[in-house]
Amino acid sequence: MYGKIKDDLITDLSEVRDAGLYKEERYIHGPQGADINVEYPESAPTEDVINFCANNYLGLSSHASVLEAAQKGLDSHGYGMSSVRFICGTQDIHRELEQKIAKFLGTDDTILYSSCFDANGGLFEVFMKGEDAILTDALNHASIIDGIRLSKAKRYIVKHDDMNDLEEKLKDAQSCRYRMVCTDGAFSMDGTIARLDKICDLAEKYDTMVMIDDSHCTGFLGKTGRGTHEYRDVMGRIDIITSTLGKAMGGASGGFTSGRKEMIEMLRQRSRPYLFSNSVAPVVVRAAIQVVDMLSETTELRDKLESNTKYFRDEMTENGFEITPGDHPIVPIMLYNAKLAQDIARDLYYEGIYVIGFFYPVVGKGLARIRVQLSAGHEKEHLDKAITAFKKIGEKYDILGKTKDEIISKYGE
Ligand SMILES: *Cc1c(COP(=O)(O)O)cnc(C)c1O
Repeated sequence: MYGKIKDDLITDLSEVRDAGLYKEERYIHGPQGADINVEYPESAPTEDVINFCANNYLGLSSHASVLEAAQKGLDSHGYGMSSVRFICGTQDIHRELEQKIAKFLGTDDTILYSSCFDANGGLFEVFMKGEDAILTDALNHASIIDGIRLSKAKRYIVKHDDMNDLEEKLKDAQSCRYRMVCTDGAFSMDGTIARLDKICDLAEKYDTMVMIDDSHCTGFLGKTGRGTHEYRDVMGRIDIITSTLGKAMGGASGGFTSGRKEMIEMLRQRSRPYLFSNSVAPVVVRAAIQVVDMLSETTELRDKLESNTKYFRDEMTENGFEITPGDHPIVPIMLYNAKLAQDIARDLYYEGIYVIGFFYPVVGKGLARIRVQLSAGHEKEHLDKAITAFKKIGEKYDILGKTKDEIISKYGE
């Protein structure tokens, strides 16, 4: 009987709307890429815009050789598996992809999941029991938080990127049987990159495992795109890496856990999202093999992404925007005020630049921003159009070269 809950939901939904937190979905006509045609409820007809808010870091979502590999996969291995891996859902290409990912990342072995959300959901409870401790960064991704909730381990929430707090908590957890530190490789709202060198030193000192979720890094961070462990020069010192195929690695779907041999072997026996959920589709597997092969052969795409990132960050800073410094293609343009961030994002949209404003509760109170995500799919003309549009709109709101205090005194927090 669908009764009382219906009225409650109608009330709750209107509260979400009134708070300005209702998420509208915009319809893209055509494939993902740098140039997209978007249907935005407010704006019909559709607009041609340059996309700066996809996780399509390497521009592979619609790359010709990835599409070709997917087509081939469809022909050679069919459309669906209709089975979990351990019954009749494992093809030669599933195993091939797992081994190629392990080689690429420099780990012992890899296990595929339908998503990185599932990889994290099926990880912690397998190893970490009531007598163990998990130390998790306060800003870690929702899927890490949920995965940890499923385990009975004692949970320590470590202040974001705070090595002193981490050390205090490691000391406190010394009586536990096992300890595991967990962190995002890069944090999606700030583009900050975890200090894995420091984390690994502490983990060694306190006999602790290290787990990273490298979803926003796999394929492009570090000199040859292996990820945060390469960027921080700690290859071989990370015990478990989870990541997604749904961002830089082609962007379709799928995720994986990669790391120590025995841990991966045990996940195949015990991890619930692996045991009780369907295999990754052969088309996706075949295309992902192509992506790993490409990235193993040449660093061309990650090099282009790196130079796009540097160019955009330098030009925007030069023009008087305040950008959280760093190397990551996630570029937060700080505006502090929620309405200002939304207004500027909307104005940019009508200038043909698609970016999103983020504000509390997605980021901290008074830390509203526009997040720009760069891609190897962007050409210099795309970047220059965006820089010009940002400058025009920045002038309109009189924020160029202004300090945080000046912006807040004009627009409020
Ligand atoms: C995107 C993301 C995920 C989810 O990946 P899916 O494969 O889409 O489930 C998990 N963790 C982090 C850190 C992410 O950024």
